[in-house]
Amino acid sequence: MAKIGFIGLGAMGLCMARNLIKGGHEVIGFDFSEVAMDAHVKNGGDIAISAAEASAEASFSIAMLPNGDAVKQAVFGPSGIVEKLPKDSLFIDMSTIHPLETDQIRQDLRAQSISMVDAPVGRTSVEAEKGESLFMVGAEKCDFKIVQPILACMGDTFIDCGGPGTGSRMKIVNNLMTTSLNVLTAQVLTFSDATGLDRNIALQVMGGTAAGRGHMTTTYPSKVLRGDLEPAFMIDLAKKDLDIAIKFSKALDVPISLAIQAEEIYADAQAEGRGGQDWTAIFDMLLKKQIPK
Ligand code: NAD
Repeated sequence: MAKIGFIGLGAMGLCMARNLIKGGHEVIGFDFSEVAMDAHVKNGGDIAISAAEASAEASFSIAMLPNGDAVKQAVFGPSGIVEKLPKDSLFIDMSTIHPLETDQIRQDLRAQSISMVDAPVGRTSVEAEKGESLFMVGAEKCDFKIVQPILACMGDTFIDCGGPGTGSRMKIVNNLMTTSLNVLTAQVLTFSDATGLDRNIALQVMGGTAAGRGHMTTTYPSKVLRGDLEPAFMIDLAKKDLDIAIKFSKALDVPISLAIQAEEIYADAQAEGRGGQDWTAIFDMLLKKQIPK
């Protein structure tokens, strides 16, 4: 059983702290919200008057906070974690923050002889409630081993993303995909409804194609990720289909702004002479456009 300071008892933190308590740990919570602190006590936790006090004599101090400023305040601000967390303990930041802030926080903590693990969370509070979160872990190998039993109380999947700072980077990459796909999904289903299609049928069809299944698990592994740009489906044909969708959406007066941006990228590919390549060659084109830093 470990003593754990837990800072940030919101939608995610409260149920994660409860799962740590269920796992037999002593969890001392701190949150600006009295309501959140009361709820943590009802869940069997203890509370402290500051992030520093919550972390006193703790083996781990965990932050589950809204943004980088909140994390910096909780760690380095007045009555912050560094004031009381023992030097051989670990700070685990599960918040979603800018990866360069993660690097800076780690560096500033190292100056105080405290190690840090970035372990942002995949999935939502629905899974967090059930102890089924996914953790993207950025840590030294030895720290990854140490935090696993703690994370195991809150989740069922822990992926070592490749060293300090990589969890934070992975989370932002993941969320670029999910947040953008959310908007694309909303635009496509709005368009689908406007064409008069039955929504359930549209969901059924797209659930069986790369549209719903996703390129990462369907078209990319068989083509561009293997370096094969021979067309299974040509860029010229993909562009033709996108053009039809854009024209039709205009006739129906449905905005599909992401498709218009995508169309420009297909046009770039054609201008580069890639019209006859596989449509996944868009990835190859974008990679090659990157200027090495
Ligand atoms: P939330 O707003 O519900 O909870 C944040 C809590 O932190 C609040 O209770 C707030 O009072 C407290 N807080 C803010 N600053 C504080 C400070 N300096 N000291 C102490 N307490 C402080 O947010 P959430 O949904 O629990 O999300 C927390 C983090 O997890 C965010 O970074 C979010 O992006 C990430 N996340 C959320 C979800 C989700 O489904 N909600 C999923 C994955 C990751």
